[in-house]
Amino acid sequence: ERVNIVPFFHHVLDRFEMNKEELIVIERHIPKDSLFLWIDKDKIIQVIDNVMSNAIKYSSKGGKITFGVIKEKQRIKVSISDKGPGISREKLDKIFERFYRADRARSRQLGGTGLGLAIAKEIINAHHGQIWAESAEGKGTTIFFTLPLINRKRGMKK
Ligand code: ATP
Ligand code: MG
Repeated sequence: ERVNIVPFFHHVLDRFEMNKEELIVIERHIPKDSLFLWIDKDKIIQVIDNVMSNAIKYSSKGGKITFGVIKEKQRIKVSISDKGPGISREKLDKIFERFYRADRARSRQLGGTGLGLAIAKEIINAHHGQIWAESAEGKGTTIFFTLPLINRKRGMKK
């Protein structure tokens, strides 16, 4: 369905902030002007939920989480950053594999199955986007994903 992701993202983040027991404030950097994408809303909500849940689960209480959206030429780039423990370089690509959990001891304590990011990747790929992670140990993690914009000129008379 054709969606203006500006109000859509605000709505998803509002709901996310409200539904958690802890007080969570997500710092938002979202453009004001409309941005139209062709997406399956429920699936994209799941991606945001999975990535945001990790940002909360793996960072210490009260750590700031930032949700950013940048408009590029033919796509948007979304970033979700936390100030948690980070992920080492050699593990960074593996976190998108099914059942992969980077820190065994911590992961067992925190619970989960290691599917969150694998599902997110499947959904983003199905939307013709990309998803990847950047991280610095001890400093935090950023998950990026892209989604193609609807080309406004398509189908218009020259
Ligand atoms: P599930 O999402 O199924 O409950 P999970 O969180 O372990 O379980 P994924 O969301 O796929 O699984 O994440 C895979 C692994 O990547 C995690 O176990 C964790 O080690 C690491 N990871 C993911 N996000 C972060 C993050 N923001 N900070 C630090 N480590 C992370
Ligand atoms: Mg997870």
